[in-house]
Amino acid sequence: MHGATTHCGYNPPFPLQNGLAMRLSKFHIATTREDPADAEIASHRLMLRAGMIRKLASGIYTWSPLGLRVLRKVEAIIREEMRNAGAIEMLMPSVQPRELWDESGRWNKYGPALLKFRDRREQEFCYGPTHEEVICEFARNELRSYRQLPVTFFQIQTKFRDEIRPRFGVMRSREFIMKDAYSFHMDQASQDETYRAMYDAYSRIFTRLGLEFRAVAADSGAIGGDVSHEFQVMADSGEDAIAFSDRSDYAANVELAEAVAPATPRPAPSQKLTRVETPEQRTIEEVGAFLNVPARQCVKTLLVRGTDGVVALCLRGDHELNEVKAAKQPELPGESVLAGEAEVRAATGATPGFIGPVGLPQDIPVIVDRSAAVLADFVCGGNVDGTHYTGANWERDARITRVADLRKVVAGDPSPDGRGMLSIARGIEVGHIFQNGDKYTRAMNVAVLGEDGKARTPITGCYGIGVTRIVAAAIEQNHDERGIIWPDAMAPWRAVICVINPKNDPAVDAAAESLYRDMTGRGIETALDDRGLRPGAMFADLELIGIPHRIVVSERGLAAGRFEYRGRRDAESRNMDRDALLALLG
Ligand code: ATP
Ligand code: MG
Repeated sequence: MHGATTHCGYNPPFPLQNGLAMRLSKFHIATTREDPADAEIASHRLMLRAGMIRKLASGIYTWSPLGLRVLRKVEAIIREEMRNAGAIEMLMPSVQPRELWDESGRWNKYGPALLKFRDRREQEFCYGPTHEEVICEFARNELRSYRQLPVTFFQIQTKFRDEIRPRFGVMRSREFIMKDAYSFHMDQASQDETYRAMYDAYSRIFTRLGLEFRAVAADSGAIGGDVSHEFQVMADSGEDAIAFSDRSDYAANVELAEAVAPATPRPAPSQKLTRVETPEQRTIEEVGAFLNVPARQCVKTLLVRGTDGVVALCLRGDHELNEVKAAKQPELPGESVLAGEAEVRAATGATPGFIGPVGLPQDIPVIVDRSAAVLADFVCGGNVDGTHYTGANWERDARITRVADLRKVVAGDPSPDGRGMLSIARGIEVGHIFQNGDKYTRAMNVAVLGEDGKARTPITGCYGIGVTRIVAAAIEQNHDERGIIWPDAMAPWRAVICVINPKNDPAVDAAAESLYRDMTGRGIETALDDRGLRPGAMFADLELIGIPHRIVVSERGLAAGRFEYRGRRDAESRNMDRDALLALLG
């Protein structure tokens, strides 16, 4: 039937758009020159200016056609690597019934980030912030035997968390896309193997995306079991501080990084304990300057609320309390909260700023940081307003209930693995992997038959990637004053051909068209900028959007048989003939 009407030599029109090609005149590009008022960080600013996202409501964004192209690239790489690692894709609903969350105990525990609502029958639901409950419901219905395990399911799906402070655009939004995966195992050895496989898959994903990242040991907090790693994209605007060794692959969230005990023992006391007047000096800086003593020779004392009255935490003056470490001390109720001024006064008779370990009432435990514990002849608060002590010494003058690791590590500290020194950098958490043990499977009654025919509770791991956050994180790491600089793997198009044709010379259009076909034919994803903009405006747009490779076709170049090529990071353009160009991009 077809054959009868086909013309001889019929040449089908080159598609307007397909997987690789796009005429920008037929696409939706909506860039702006002005910086948006409420965007604090570069990625947020540039995503708005490039027209990748549009805000619908606080923390809720539309992805424009341009933004979606980038998002799809990220998804495709994640999907491929998850499959390579043996995970099986599925799709779970966003809307989840309350009953499941009651079973896990999280309906009330998850907190205000859980968006709850009712349907017309007054049934309660939430919009899923995560899917442990739903996957456990699936698993308990589908998995019967140990033979079906281990198994890892994953999905790429929209989550909602009613974040207290949505900010930085899609970096911390309320609605966002996550890749979440859940694995089920009969034993720990199997869990360890899958955890490793996911760790490796994550490393490949972020490497392929062209990001500078680190896998860091993380504080899994109240959510998971013991083992947990975060994948952090390094960027100054990141919310997390990461400590890493300059000589090994040790890396940990600062919340978790151990401050090792100083190698040198505490010197013997050489000074007399002396009370000195410090009428107006409360802070370590003020006291140190007044008494001409460096901060590292002072002890600062914080009173926090313990399970049974206040607890004193002592640190070297130049160090800061790590609240996560403090919260783990057995005298504290699982969180570290400073005592109020009235509580401090009731416990010591003095106000904060003049508190110290010397002469504290016997019933107040004194937990001393490792570095503070090796000080001798130190300065500390006098427990009488307007006074401090000089020449104070542990044991002789002040009690130690326990020495503990309480402080935040600082740059220059020895690495806890014994190799190298710590540096501190900021990062953006783009992925997080956990081992959950039987936390969810036990609560949700997931059971499979073991080899011996008896019912067993499997253990689980969960593995998340912030798909939408990755796009913002990549921009934080790759931009300049002119705009975004996409790594090739994430770019909306790898290359763009700019048509400069003020006189409407058909030869220019034809040359551009032919190059466009050649590049696309070779699998190079290419946009043709045929919008007819003036060169300055066109280049500014394309630089803002961040396309990695730009080729200019103009009358002048054409006369010399050349194209003008410029990489997004290059300072200048180069003239190239077609073969050199295709070789460079192919
Ligand atoms: P964060 O500490 O940043 O709030 P989280 O520990 O709550 O993250 P997970 O529950 O482990 O995050 O979720 C997996 C991934 O989802 C995170 O690593 C992050 O990349 C992404 N993510 C979490 N919350 C948000 C959000 N509000 N906006 C965008 N991405 C998010
Ligand atoms: Mg969170």
